[in-house]
Amino acid sequence: MRVADVDGVPEWAVDHLEGEGIEELYPPQAEAVEKGVADGENLVASVPTASGKTLVAQLAMLSAVERGGKALYIVPLRALAGEKASEFAAFEDHGVSVGVSTGNYESDGARLADEDVIVATSEKVDSLVRNGADWIDDLACVVADEVHLVDDDHRGPTLEVTLAKLRQRVPALQVVALSATVGNADEVADWLDAALVDSTWRPIELRTGVHYGQAVHYDDGTQAELATGRSDSQTAAIVDDTLQDGGSTLVFVNSRRNAEAAARRLADVTKTGITDAERERLQAVADEIRGVSDTETSDDLADAVEKGAAFHHAGLAREHRELVEDAFRDRAVKVVAATPTLAAGVNTPSRRVVVRDWQRYDGTAGGMQPLSVLEVHQMFGRAGRPGRDPYGEAVLLASSHDELEELFDRYVYADPEPVRSKLAAEPALRTHVLAAVATGFTATEDALLAFLGETLYATQTDDASRLEDVALDVLAYLDRNGFVEREAGALRATTTGHLVSQLYVDPMSAATLVDGLRDAARAAGQPATAERASADGEPGFQTASEMQADAPASDGDASADPSPLGLFHLVSRTPDMYELYLRSGDRERYTELAYEREDELLGRTPREEAPDFEDWLSALKTAKLLEDWASELDEDRIAERYDVGPGDIRGKVETAEWLLHAAERLAGELDADCATAVRAARKRVEYGVREELLDLAGVRDVGRKRARRLYEAGIESRADLRNAEKGVVLGAVRGREKTAERILANAGHPDPEMDGVDADADAVAAAEEGDAAGASGGDGQANLGDFS
Ligand code: ADP
Repeated sequence: MRVADVDGVPEWAVDHLEGEGIEELYPPQAEAVEKGVADGENLVASVPTASGKTLVAQLAMLSAVERGGKALYIVPLRALAGEKASEFAAFEDHGVSVGVSTGNYESDGARLADEDVIVATSEKVDSLVRNGADWIDDLACVVADEVHLVDDDHRGPTLEVTLAKLRQRVPALQVVALSATVGNADEVADWLDAALVDSTWRPIELRTGVHYGQAVHYDDGTQAELATGRSDSQTAAIVDDTLQDGGSTLVFVNSRRNAEAAARRLADVTKTGITDAERERLQAVADEIRGVSDTETSDDLADAVEKGAAFHHAGLAREHRELVEDAFRDRAVKVVAATPTLAAGVNTPSRRVVVRDWQRYDGTAGGMQPLSVLEVHQMFGRAGRPGRDPYGEAVLLASSHDELEELFDRYVYADPEPVRSKLAAEPALRTHVLAAVATGFTATEDALLAFLGETLYATQTDDASRLEDVALDVLAYLDRNGFVEREAGALRATTTGHLVSQLYVDPMSAATLVDGLRDAARAAGQPATAERASADGEPGFQTASEMQADAPASDGDASADPSPLGLFHLVSRTPDMYELYLRSGDRERYTELAYEREDELLGRTPREEAPDFEDWLSALKTAKLLEDWASELDEDRIAERYDVGPGDIRGKVETAEWLLHAAERLAGELDADCATAVRAARKRVEYGVREELLDLAGVRDVGRKRARRLYEAGIESRADLRNAEKGVVLGAVRGREKTAERILANAGHPDPEMDGVDADADAVAAAEEGDAAGASGGDGQANLGDFS
């Protein structure tokens, strides 16, 4: 079937696709069209990676827009939203507008009302629905990418509930669910009342196998010699072999550290196989990478990229990841060592894929666990670039004959696992039940239970009462914390409950924040007006209030605002903040810190032998990281001190900002006086600066480092900057004219032009002093203790 033969798709789209080299539909795409995907029919497409699922989605969305509706594309990762939107950007020339929504806060709703196609994560869609986005009712088509992720413990339930909700709210909505090949796509299709395309077709031949000894053993029983030669590493030998053949390799490993170490070693292989032109391009990419952040990770990445190798993991900053992906797609970078995040959807095919580690550490299981077949097959699927490579090849590595056989049975010949719903878990239901009640979606217990009956969980379980039991427990918890009121089967959210649902925090996080804020208010001698939730003694849950019921009110001075550390600790104790692990020596270190800074910490301090003490200390460690960040310590010093990557630091900072925003709104709701202190703490995290720099750092493009340099040079506020002597500004930004002009313009300076301006020598010296303070972590940062 040709694209031009598909009814319902606008003519320009046919031309556009033909321009992209897409004329004939791939067989699974043709099957999808035959089953009505371009006529508004529901469809589940379970096909291998890189077999053209995106086009199926495009046909559905464009025909929906053509019929006068809107289309929503749900991506599994925030990182993929931008990538997908740019794939759809070409629509804009033909009057189909495309919007992306990824922000953390409850914003964006109105802006999206005018877009035809919207790309967002399921969390964002959920949040938009909670915040009353009316345009949801105009949706004609929703696409769920990587729908097999409903199986994910953490994020699956949100996707599941979001799809169920959208379907209930918009009865005629077309649902198109794209999935990797899974064991039970038919069940997913049943749940969504959808036709099914279940195919193993691929556009390019994929050979899979296991490397063992001096050969690759393929799934068809053949072997090909691939000697490890002098190198003792199978991976290095395979990368070298692929390189000789003009191809690139993607190596999957099980940890960030391993990805970094592998890239370093493999750089020695690739550096001999690059041309002069490639070397120049790699040098430019390496420079850009160094410009992204001033951390060791950034330097290590740049060092490897210069030689044609790279690593890729979730600890990298987004800009780092994008630079690596682009250079790999351009074939300048010859090998990428990656953790499985890259398999999850970034379109970076390569000639060969090596799954080096097929086990990874799992904290909940207390040891190494094998990867799922689904995960390994998705990694396999990244092999082979249609139109560029003659074939794709994916191999595992065995170090013994037994392992060779095990890997064949476990992965090469095995079918992927079935997808199972993870909805019947308390944390998932806590947030979704509150949202369903707060949005008026389910106004009675019966309606709530009926709605839950429409989920994948309900279609899969034999024990219907389990979901009901958990849901009722959760209702009791929400009632006890004052978020929901129940009366004769009717459900209503309280004002606080509405706010919590809109803020998109876990209700348990909200309860923790509310208690901490009340404690702060008490310490300041001000009773917070909202009533403390009453405990009704139901088993299974303990409210944050109950846990702290016997806590003596802290006896600080009457006007004391909570300190930033106290607030950072409070947000770090919520289930929405992923904590840092305690490493060896940390227990003593942070216990000592807890005693030193006791007065600042909100709520009850658990006894050292109590089971929740470790978690409480981990939260203190996270809080300390945030305090270091907000005290202008350099990123690489923080990375070293807490043994984390720059991406982790940004992740923590963003989460803290979002939770402090929630705390600020809750403080307003409780009439607690500390809202101003919470806001200041949020700003300090947002900008990563001490109090005195808040005004300056708020000027666009200034940032934490330049704000400090300007301050040391005597420019202390936005107003100072607006009226500043240009030579001083130029000196403070170390002679960078373009930067100086930009920030002066942003501050509203009447004449930012730097032509002929000389940098002020005193300002240069002062800026250097500011840098030294951030790098040493000393210099007036009284709270750093003996951490260095
Ligand atoms: P998936 O989402 O299934 O992993 P993609 O949709 O990203 O795969 O498709 C992989 C590649 O195949 C893309 O570069 C896309 O442009 C190309 N492609 C898709 N359908 C066709 C087609 N019918 N003919 C030629 N190329 C196609």
